[in-house]
Amino acid sequence: MKQISRREFIKTTAVGLGSLAALDAIPREVLAFEAADTVLFNGNIITVDAKDTIVQAVAIRNGKILKVGSNQEVQSWSGNGTERIDLKGKTVTPGLVDSHLHIMGYGMQFRPLFLNIRFPLTPNKAALLKLVAERSKTTKPGEWIVGNQGFTLSVDQTPTRWELDEVAPQNPVLLRHNSGQHSTANSMALKLAGITAATPNPYSGKIGRRAGSMEPNGLLFHYPAENLVNRVAPGISDRDMASLAEDVERGQLRCLAAGYASGHDVIVAPQKIGGYFAAAKENRLKMRIRLMEYVSHEKELEQLLRNRDTSSNPMLENGGYKLAVDGGVAAKTALMYDANLESSKSSYVYHDQATLNRMTRMIHATGHQVAFHAVGDRAIDMAINAIEDAMQAKPRENHRHRIEHCLFPTEKALSRIKQLGIVVSVSPQWIRFHSDGYKAMTNESAMQRFLPLKTMLDMGIPVAFGCDVPATILLEPRWAFIGAVGRTTHNGYSPNPAECLTIKEALRMHTMGAAYAGFEERAVGSLEEGKLADMVVWSHDLYAMPLVAMQSLAAERVMVGGKFVETSR
Ligand SMILES: [Zn+2]
Repeated sequence: MKQISRREFIKTTAVGLGSLAALDAIPREVLAFEAADTVLFNGNIITVDAKDTIVQAVAIRNGKILKVGSNQEVQSWSGNGTERIDLKGKTVTPGLVDSHLHIMGYGMQFRPLFLNIRFPLTPNKAALLKLVAERSKTTKPGEWIVGNQGFTLSVDQTPTRWELDEVAPQNPVLLRHNSGQHSTANSMALKLAGITAATPNPYSGKIGRRAGSMEPNGLLFHYPAENLVNRVAPGISDRDMASLAEDVERGQLRCLAAGYASGHDVIVAPQKIGGYFAAAKENRLKMRIRLMEYVSHEKELEQLLRNRDTSSNPMLENGGYKLAVDGGVAAKTALMYDANLESSKSSYVYHDQATLNRMTRMIHATGHQVAFHAVGDRAIDMAINAIEDAMQAKPRENHRHRIEHCLFPTEKALSRIKQLGIVVSVSPQWIRFHSDGYKAMTNESAMQRFLPLKTMLDMGIPVAFGCDVPATILLEPRWAFIGAVGRTTHNGYSPNPAECLTIKEALRMHTMGAAYAGFEERAVGSLEEGKLADMVVWSHDLYAMPLVAMQSLAAERVMVGGKFVETSR
């Protein structure tokens, strides 16, 4: 870093503060001045500060924001060694923060070992079976066919073991739904996993059975059941830390390209968390990552809390813990009070309320944050009950416990969420792409309660946005904006249009809102003096462009800590 005095600086630039003689009266330490490393100017810079100020220029030093303001105001921070970048009117925002995604799991999807079964390659069951049939022709007998995550079909459309046997009779096959809430395996895979009619359901998981019998039909609900096969399938559980770190790298490059400078990986299995620490230790993290370790059951929790990795790294933070309360709509495992809804026909309680309360109390007492996967109204209430119970046992300011997804909260749930200071982390991408499906799986009365974003904001509930890859194909933040602002599907269905947000509100949720969900709002989420210089240069002015054009919004360059990063798409 080249240091120059304020006086030298003034001599070497055209911008002056008055006569040099006048400066002589100012004490030397006040004059000590370091020029900016980088100045961006001639921009349309949306700061997302409290007043939603838009400025022209920003000066950066040591990875932090030194000054934001007009070209003239910021110009005075330029020195001899300052890199000056003319934005030529381009729009800049804070680096987006994603409150819910799975960077390692996303990176894993692109490993060539896996059969690519992601949308749009598998729009229906026939297309999915055809892909498996084709792969089986080139796969030796006995060798595995493992799909990436995953197909988007509902559980009724998911091939059973017998349908998979027909297209791949000589290979074990394992395919996972993109939501991660259910998988399907053929007979050979079930056999290798040792799953028979006599196999009991694992804790909080469920083995699908043929109607009226105990015979497994290939379907596996929730991670503990899916893991029965995952542990024998190649490429999933048999991974060393180096290859997990590669997944992190591969995933982060795509996330950075989309415009995320920070992200919260909200499900990291204890066996895989080392992959992140390995990547961090080797300085391979270019994106700021916050982890939430996944807790499968109560017995495991004490050990996880004891063995917590507390090593610090500027790009990696070990955040709190994740608990799952229910599953997903496509798997029919969304826990709703009306269990007759299609969304809930296979639903069951993962952890009973007393167990959930004990686990929540234990995490809460250590001062860590808890995030609950809760989709259905009953699951959301169970999460709220657990937080309330923990708060009664030990009141704690600023806990920021979170509910992830929160698709169908009741009115009462919203007021309890507000009262308890719970953060809601949602994927508005789903509004456009899944509302038709959700409506078919629930009913209009439930859809009136679906992701009530405007109500939550008006109530002062902290809301954060996260894209949830690979559980969705919709990586880029434009899909969050289109979902939250447009709130309409391709077919023109609009679930409760009164809940539309403005683009300003949506951008705030994806910057300051998500930063708040990770206790990072003082460091990132807005472009203000002293905060980290994370920002995105966009293809368009997102505040000015019509919503119908939003599909072409793309991140052109992404800066993390004052440096533009290399990305890949
Ligand atoms: Zn997720």
